[in-house]
Amino acid sequence: MPIRLLSSEVASQIAAGEVIERPASVVKELAENALDAGARAVTITIEEAGRGLIEVADDGSGIPASELELAVSRHATSKLVRSDDLFHISTLGFRGEALASISSVSRLTLTTRVAASTAGARLRVEGGVSGRLEETGAPVGTVVRVEDLFYNVPARLKFLKTDMTERRAIDALVTRYALAYPEVRFKLSEGKSISLQTAGDGDRRAILAALYGVDVARQMLEVLAEEEPAAGAGTGRMKLSGFISPTALTRSNRKEITFFVNGRWVQETALNSALLQAYHTLLMVGRYPLAALFLDLEPEDVDVNVHPAKAEVRFKSQDRVFSFVQRAVRRALLAYTPVPSLPTATLWGGAVRPPEPREPGLDWTMAAEAEVEGLPGRSQEPAPAGLPPIQSGMPQIPLMRLIGQIGSTYLVAEGPDGLYLIDQHAAHERVLFEKLMAQYALKNVPAQALLSPVVVHLPPAQAKLIEAQLDVLGRFGFEVETFGANAFQVRSVPLLFESSDPSLALRALVEDFEEDESPLQAELEAKLAGRVCKRLAVKAGQALSTEEQRALLTNLEACESPRTCPHGRPTMIHLSVDMLERQFGRKGAR
Ligand code: ADP
Ligand code: MG
Repeated sequence: MPIRLLSSEVASQIAAGEVIERPASVVKELAENALDAGARAVTITIEEAGRGLIEVADDGSGIPASELELAVSRHATSKLVRSDDLFHISTLGFRGEALASISSVSRLTLTTRVAASTAGARLRVEGGVSGRLEETGAPVGTVVRVEDLFYNVPARLKFLKTDMTERRAIDALVTRYALAYPEVRFKLSEGKSISLQTAGDGDRRAILAALYGVDVARQMLEVLAEEEPAAGAGTGRMKLSGFISPTALTRSNRKEITFFVNGRWVQETALNSALLQAYHTLLMVGRYPLAALFLDLEPEDVDVNVHPAKAEVRFKSQDRVFSFVQRAVRRALLAYTPVPSLPTATLWGGAVRPPEPREPGLDWTMAAEAEVEGLPGRSQEPAPAGLPPIQSGMPQIPLMRLIGQIGSTYLVAEGPDGLYLIDQHAAHERVLFEKLMAQYALKNVPAQALLSPVVVHLPPAQAKLIEAQLDVLGRFGFEVETFGANAFQVRSVPLLFESSDPSLALRALVEDFEEDESPLQAELEAKLAGRVCKRLAVKAGQALSTEEQRALLTNLEACESPRTCPHGRPTMIHLSVDMLERQFGRKGAR
């Protein structure tokens, strides 16, 4: 075929494809325009999950009638003049493409009025072809109606998901924008049903409930941190606000992690890893936190012009942003960690030398800070600059004196600052997990051959899972062979689990795999290990000898993350001396 210039119709449809992928993309662009126009209220109405109609009405500045035709042309924007402007963008839009793109793949009607004008104006564009500009009555602000999206691009229409999925994408988008702009009243409705309505009173918690449900929202921890520019840093102030989940609240995927940078929703792997690193060792690998975080930087410190849909950004100083986010999140997490790490030096003389000479009377916040600074990097990756890896062998909990066991379920121990109740199951789970993972990392998991191999039958789906992981299991000390259809023969088990039932261990490996799980290999390994440890750890209700109790306590003290089990539940509860004194009236209530 000879080379030809594309017709403008085809060219604009190709361009539209970059930004307008589905109904939710239209909602995003129109809502962003409304926010850029200074709207206090954004009202979104959809029909047929956005295929039939998407209408976004705002009470923003409006568009002068004389500029209406320009507004729907490609590369027409009021937000940018010179190419320099690209490097300190403070509006959500700047490409001047959205209205042109949307109008080329739908029937679009723009009705608008600016405060300075008594009459409003209306323009209709069908498949990129503008109609006549009409005068009309209208309130100040803008209403954009998008009908029959993709009516002229049937191929695109075929790629849309079910109504439910498209609707969910719109819901998710609007809810997140509502959360990012709590001072703006958002309303989203389809037909008569209102799926979201916010008060615009600046209260983010209320909106959080719409995003996650009341129960989850109540548990979410607040993050608020600011950093002034360091001298000579070359980059300016940073602020992080929003919410993160406590370690006990997790998901099996990253879908509930939301980041906004300077008011725009971005998918940014660097930010995700900063967040995950802040949770490092507090969550079982393969579990993810929930988060809705808002990062604000000076406009010149972030390049937003790297992605057509503006979903990615680039930071001038990625390292600084990364460590700021990580530290801010870690600090918020530690502030809620059930057992604060306290200075052990003066109060508690023990056989083992105290970890680090900390100032007596060091307040707890500072102790938490100290821990932040010593945050370990992810084992496979070099620690980011400024965060030296934690000194190994430094106890993460104070040394404790065992008192005994109660209810065959909890250990009671005395520490330098009061009483500790330790959940024996959670604690043992943590101990086994860290030992097993440490041996695994050294590629040396001691195994114990079974005197008589055990045969385990599994349902076909689970058998497939195991079959695919026989190598990994081998590295974990489980020597397992296929033994006919859906059956396996276990020949050895890790020495750590020597005394437990091998078939129990094997079954634990494949328990409750969620359907949509396809963890990375590294995650899978930790997940498998976590499962076996959970299953084989001592149970609540199991009486332990004094030696066993003492061993458990000592082993827990040696753990890197002794305060939570690998699934993030606390291993211990702390009743401080201070608290006891208050409860017994020895010290005045505050
Ligand atoms: P961009 O937002 O990148 O500038 P758009 O195609 O989305 O490009 O919009 C083009 C222009 O139309 C904007 O720059 C703005 O001046 C105007 N505009 C669009 N929507 C609105 C609105 N809701 N209120 C006021 N002005 C708007
Ligand atoms: Mg725009």
